[in-house]
Amino acid sequence: MAKRDFYEILGVGKNASEDELKKAYRKLAMKHHPDRNPGSKEAEEKFKEAKEAYEMLSDPQKRDAYDRYGHAGVDPNNGMGGGAGGFADAFGDIFGDIFGQAAGRGRGGPQVYRGADLRYNLEITLEQAAHGYDTTIRVPSWDECDTCHGSGAKPGTSPTTCTTCGGHGQVRMQQGFFSVLQTCPKCHGSGKMNPSPCTACSGAGKIKRNKTLEVQIPAGIDDGMRIRSSGNGEPGMNGGPPGDLYVEIRIKPHPVFQREGDDLHCEIPISFAKAALGGEVEVPTLNGKASFTLPEGTQTGKTFRLRSKGIKGVRSGYAGDLFCHVVIETPVTLTERQKDLLREFEQLTIEGGSKHSPQTKTWKDKVKEFFE
Ligand SMILES: [Zn+2]
Ligand SMILES: [Zn+2]
Repeated sequence: MAKRDFYEILGVGKNASEDELKKAYRKLAMKHHPDRNPGSKEAEEKFKEAKEAYEMLSDPQKRDAYDRYGHAGVDPNNGMGGGAGGFADAFGDIFGDIFGQAAGRGRGGPQVYRGADLRYNLEITLEQAAHGYDTTIRVPSWDECDTCHGSGAKPGTSPTTCTTCGGHGQVRMQQGFFSVLQTCPKCHGSGKMNPSPCTACSGAGKIKRNKTLEVQIPAGIDDGMRIRSSGNGEPGMNGGPPGDLYVEIRIKPHPVFQREGDDLHCEIPISFAKAALGGEVEVPTLNGKASFTLPEGTQTGKTFRLRSKGIKGVRSGYAGDLFCHVVIETPVTLTERQKDLLREFEQLTIEGGSKHSPQTKTWKDKVKEFFE
């Protein structure tokens, strides 16, 4: 399949500045982010396409190769960050700074990788989301190996310089009629070989443990929002910076309220007698009780809006509203006396004519029209 032009994908000109590239990419990333388009293969493809285009064009060396030789000039398998950034990085937070800590490279030295980002799903209640919530979570962390003190080599031995790349971490590869720099396939960019790896850490130089992290969830946070904990992701490689940890909020379904943005919705069952007579209705809110006046003759489905009784938005700072949807409840398991009263009531209602039942009248008129 023919690949689309990277500039075309981002919708920028051939001489777009770094800033313009970043802006164009951020816009596309926001639009096609998988979290915003759950299950959409198309959005996922577009997101990946934009990511690849941005990664290529934001690297001056790759951009230069691309400008000269087109798609043949950039090896798609030599993406920025390689395996270290990986998939987790592709889904980096759209609200945080996804561009802050790209992988870099010491001059002539080994390839430096930023650690992968981690995601932690935290489930909280609607009340906790509305009022804010401080908690602790257990997340993986990596400590320097005690046995080899981080070198990854068995005590008494030391890593040797990689013979394939001479310690540079990169090798020149011939691709058709030109050559490109690639991460050394033998040492994976570290520039070192480890003939006798440390047995305690299998040569990684670090050991995975768990740590407790305090998380402060701001009041008003919504489902799917993320909190970034800088530097608490996986450690970087070859001295690269660590990734970030993203705490993604999941709000449990609430028995009474449904949230829509900063507004809350709830159903209020009302007896038909009360709906007919009107009166005060007490309703629950996330901050105690509130009430509204039910006018005489309220029909089922009518909505009452209680201003500022919703959730104070974490971004807007304004409280949403509470929408109470009236549901008229038909009485059940009636006594004979209640039934007698209702029969009498029904008789009087019929005698009173259509003025008591505006909806029935409208409906009957429609039926008549339909059959004539
Ligand atoms: Zn070790
Ligand atoms: Zn090497």
